Amino acid sequence: MYMNKYQYHWVNTQTRQTRVTTPIIARAIRNARLKHGVKFRESHLLPNAKAVTRNAYILVGPLLIHPNKNNDLYTKLGNLALRGAKVNVFPVIPSPRKILKDYKRGAFVCAVDKQLKINHIFPDDVHDGGFLTPSTLDVLSNIECETFHNKTKVQYKNSPENISKLKTIRAKYKETIEKISLIIRKYQLYDRAPTDGALIINENPQHTLASARRTNKTTLSSNDMVLIHTPITSSNSLSQTGKRRHTSDVELIPLSQSFGKRFLIHLHTPNKLVSRGVMYPQLSTQKEYPYGELQYWKEIHSEAKQIFKNTNQTEVFNLKNHGLVFSVNSPEELEKIILKHIEITKRA
Ligand SMILES: [Zn+2]
Repeated sequence: MYMNKYQYHWVNTQTRQTRVTTPIIARAIRNARLKHGVKFRESHLLPNAKAVTRNAYILVGPLLIHPNKNNDLYTKLGNLALRGAKVNVFPVIPSPRKILKDYKRGAFVCAVDKQLKINHIFPDDVHDGGFLTPSTLDVLSNIECETFHNKTKVQYKNSPENISKLKTIRAKYKETIEKISLIIRKYQLYDRAPTDGALIINENPQHTLASARRTNKTTLSSNDMVLIHTPITSSNSLSQTGKRRHTSDVELIPLSQSFGKRFLIHLHTPNKLVSRGVMYPQLSTQKEYPYGELQYWKEIHSEAKQIFKNTNQTEVFNLKNHGLVFSVNSPEELEKIILKHIEITKRA
């Protein structure tokens, strides 16, 4: 189904303590093979950095999180990331009860992720033999998210009329887009890279702008936006105007239209406890949704409506184990809500 140009590696660091967690990884790998035909090379050794291409996905784990330990390993992982490999760590936290404390103390995890450009897959509520780990679904969606990006079929409609319409709407929102980008830059609202997230603008029911995929959200300009035509849920497809491909979080497009506000902004924060919904459980969806599939927007919509009702506001909710979604009419409103709800973790 997908052009699979990635090399997949699983560095199995299985130890006696973490033995119980390996079935979670094995299941995710098996699902990725069945669903997408990917083949993993399993080994107990890291691949040689020189032999690794940009198109490599490396999963390392299970790994017990110990600040100030595993330094040699982390140095090697950083070298792999430097070569352009997607390096993902499957962390194991010994005591689920201490997750907040451990993960906060493990602020080092965020620092390491940022510094080395690697990613600790967030350990959620799977209690496996007393350990806290990511779930099979988390590992699978990480593989998908890091290597497939776009699951949607896209058709480009770049007629002169459409291009001119796109340019007109871009011009109208130029300053607002720059203001939103400034907020993302000011509070550093991204996890590993500023390419996280998405911006959707509802000009009117027929005209929706969406950020192109992998755009830097801290330097976003109106030229980064494309015009979306009616998305078709049944075939997970849409047509667009604009040369660059639309955001991969397509389910947010109909969702944004359904909220009836001008802007939808999807963000991650450097503090994974916020992005993952652990810090503010009342703002978080009950279910985890795979990204990039239009069919989920209605379910997300009804969960969001319930969250809005329960929390007596209509501006923010969190996609469980993914990230925040803001629904606002202006950049000023966005900043106000960020300051009110979200703990800002200032990064060095
Ligand atoms: Zn996201």
